[in-house]
Amino acid sequence: MNNEIVPAELDYRELVATYGSPLLVLDQAAVRKQYRALTQALPGVRLHYALKPLPHSAVVATLKAEGCGFDLATNGEVDVMLENQINPDDCIHTHPIKRDGDIRYALEYGCKVFVFDNPVELDKFLPYQDKAELLLRVSFPNPETKVDLSKKFGCTPEAALPLLRKAKAMGLNVIGLSFHVGSQVPNSKRHVEAITSCNQILRDAAAEDINLQVLDIGGGFPVNYGADGADFDIYEFCAPIREALSHTPKGIRLLAEPGRFISAPCMTSVASVMGKAERFERTWYYLDDGLYGSYSGQLFDHINYPKSAPYATGEAKPAVLAGPTCDSIDVLADDIDLPELDVGDVIVGKMMGAYTWASATEFNFFRKASILVIDSQEAIEIKAVA
Ligand SMILES: *Cc1c(COP(=O)(O)O)cnc(C)c1O
Repeated sequence: MNNEIVPAELDYRELVATYGSPLLVLDQAAVRKQYRALTQALPGVRLHYALKPLPHSAVVATLKAEGCGFDLATNGEVDVMLENQINPDDCIHTHPIKRDGDIRYALEYGCKVFVFDNPVELDKFLPYQDKAELLLRVSFPNPETKVDLSKKFGCTPEAALPLLRKAKAMGLNVIGLSFHVGSQVPNSKRHVEAITSCNQILRDAAAEDINLQVLDIGGGFPVNYGADGADFDIYEFCAPIREALSHTPKGIRLLAEPGRFISAPCMTSVASVMGKAERFERTWYYLDDGLYGSYSGQLFDHINYPKSAPYATGEAKPAVLAGPTCDSIDVLADDIDLPELDVGDVIVGKMMGAYTWASATEFNFFRKASILVIDSQEAIEIKAVA
């Protein structure tokens, strides 16, 4: 299986015949392409890939080779860093709420930068005063995004200075500010508002001799989930962000924590038809992957992934795509036009790298899809199946 070369044009049917179904095909070239595009769109900003949407070593290894940093939130994510021999100086730990054991585990690994947003969290750093460097997470509510992270985490902009003063009085080393405006944002307005507000906090703090060195602008950078599959113009999306960052006080180091933007385009799902039935004037196709599996993001992340039957021919008819479990909510598409499919035919889902496999369950004991790692930039090479 190692180093086996498959034909330049990927035939998902052959992959399933060889490696089984369901599969997720992870293309490292897509990871590289996204990292480079965002690096160009945000010059001067050091990127730390947020592991949460796809904590897979193939992504981590690709990004390590590109010189990317990493954004961790849990001990399990620290373990992925250890497995891939990532330099802890390239890591930040950004969970605003941690247990003492989480802080200790990250510090033992060597990651020094942590996030806080309230006084209770500050107390936890007293024993690690001389080691830990802190970022204060500020919240900017974003009702426009479906995943609005500012309710759950972050202090209000008004609370920032008092918290910075308190940390200083406690002898803790706060090095900067961070925020996360929410995931898959429709435009860069919130990023711009948050940067502008943080620029002011940085100046106000400096006026009180609290000299911060870092501004971390978080994640949220969107991708195109449309059926057309067109590339999203991230350079244009980031133009207002570049402008806002040009007003950040000189000497401030800039960071970002992209997750979805880097990982979403890199995985393609391949599921197979297990059975079919005629119900309510539609053909129901029962697939071996579903809402409890790779398509979990349709529930948790509110995304409708582009799905197709690329090898089927004939006239399209109304169909339903259902997942394999015995639960009635496990339906991927209840109104999709597809040519007639047979048992064993495949359904392909695109843009399935972020918040898919990561949140998949094994409900009903249907195992998670295997991840097949390829690199379409070299030859298409089967790197691993796990
Ligand atoms: C989830 C998360 C990210 C990544 O967000 P995306 O919208 O996927 O880019 C970055 N930082 C933190 C703290 C997160 O929780």
